[in-house]
Amino acid sequence: MTGLVDAAWGIYVHIPFCQAKCSYCAFVSQVGNEQLQQEYVAALCREITAAGGDFSAHSVDSLFFGGGTPTVLQTDALALILQTIRQTFSLAPDAEISIEANPGTVTAQSLTSLRQLGFNRLSLGVQSFDDRVLAAAGRIHRAEDAETAFGLARQAGFDNIGFDLMYGLPQQTEASWQSTLEHAIMLNPDHLSAYGLKLEDGTPLAVAVENGREILPSEADEEAMYDKLNDFLPMAGFERYEVANYAKPGRQCRHNLKYWRSLPFRGFGLAAHSFDGTQRFANTDNLTEYLQRIAAGQSVVLPPEETDEATLIAEYTFTALRLATGLSYDDFRQRFDRDFRQIYAAELQRLLQKKLIVQTDQAVFLTPRGMKFGNRVFAEFLP
Ligand code: SF4
Repeated sequence: MTGLVDAAWGIYVHIPFCQAKCSYCAFVSQVGNEQLQQEYVAALCREITAAGGDFSAHSVDSLFFGGGTPTVLQTDALALILQTIRQTFSLAPDAEISIEANPGTVTAQSLTSLRQLGFNRLSLGVQSFDDRVLAAAGRIHRAEDAETAFGLARQAGFDNIGFDLMYGLPQQTEASWQSTLEHAIMLNPDHLSAYGLKLEDGTPLAVAVENGREILPSEADEEAMYDKLNDFLPMAGFERYEVANYAKPGRQCRHNLKYWRSLPFRGFGLAAHSFDGTQRFANTDNLTEYLQRIAAGQSVVLPPEETDEATLIAEYTFTALRLATGLSYDDFRQRFDRDFRQIYAAELQRLLQKKLIVQTDQAVFLTPRGMKFGNRVFAEFLP
C-alpha cells in the first residue's frame, strides 16, 4: 500500500472516563476518581510530547477528543491536553477541533470555556429524546438535559453541533423513535449520527436481555426505525454522506472522514488506534499498564499485527463504500497499484444484479438498498 506522505493528519485523544456506565456500553471507559483522572492526563500529555519527534512534521487539520466522556474532565485538564498538542504538532489555523460531550456533564460555564479554548465542534451524546428509553439504557441524562445543553452550546458560540442518536434500544418503539427524530430536527443541529444498537456480550444490557428482564425491539421494528431515519432526515435538509451519518451542507465531520477515506491519523491515550497510511497500530487497553509504561518512558503502542495486502484492500473497500461518494477507482489504483474492477469483476457483477451497488466510470457506490444491507455487500469483499 502506498503511503500518504502529503495528506494532513488527524489526531484522536481518548478520555476513558464516564460519570456512570451505560447498560449497553462496551467502550474502553470506566468511572474514575479525580486522582486517577489527573494521573491519566499527565500520562497522556507525556505520550503526546514523546510522539512529537516522529509526527511533528505533519500538518494536522482535525483533532477529536472522544471517549468515554471527555467532558467529565475539569476544563483545566482539557486545556492542558490541548496546549500540549498545540506545542507538539502544527495544528492548522482552521483545524476542526471536536469534543464529545454527554448532556449531563456540561454547563453554560464549561461550554463557554470549551469554546474559548478553541473547540469548534461539539458532538452531543443525545441518543434519544424519550426519558423511558434513556433510563432503560442507563444514561445519566434526560431529554430536557440534552435540549438545555444544545441551547447553552449555541449560546456559547458553537455553530457546529452534532447529535449522536441510537435506535433498537430497550423500551424504544417506532413512535418513540419518530418523536426523537422530530425533536432532533426541530432543534436543528448541524450533524446527526444514528447507529443501531449492537448488543455486546457481557454488558449489563446483554445479561438483562438473556434473563428476559429486558426486551429489545424486534428486527422488523428496528428495520422500520431505520427506514424512518432515511425518510425523515433527507427531507429535513440532512445529507446522508456515510451509512450512519447525516450533515447539513458543509458540516460533514472532517475527522471521521479521515477514517472512512483511509487517511492518516494518530491516536493518543488508552486503546487509541492509529493509521499512518500503510499500517494500523493500537495502544494498550489496560489502564494500569498504560500508566506504568508511560511512567517508565516506554511506548504504549502494541506490536502491530502483520497485515497482508488482501486484508488492507478489504479494510479500504469496507470503509470507502460506507461513504456516499463511494470507492474511487483512481484512489484505489494510487494506493494499491491495481485495478479494483479487475480484482472484483465477479463480485461487482453479482452485487449489480442484486441492485446493491451502482457503478460509474470513476467509482462504485452503494445504492440505498446496499446501505441498508451493507453486510451482504461487505461479505463479497472479505479476504
Ligand atoms: S457515555 Fe458513552 S462511553 Fe460512557 S458509558 Fe455511556 S456509552 Fe459508554
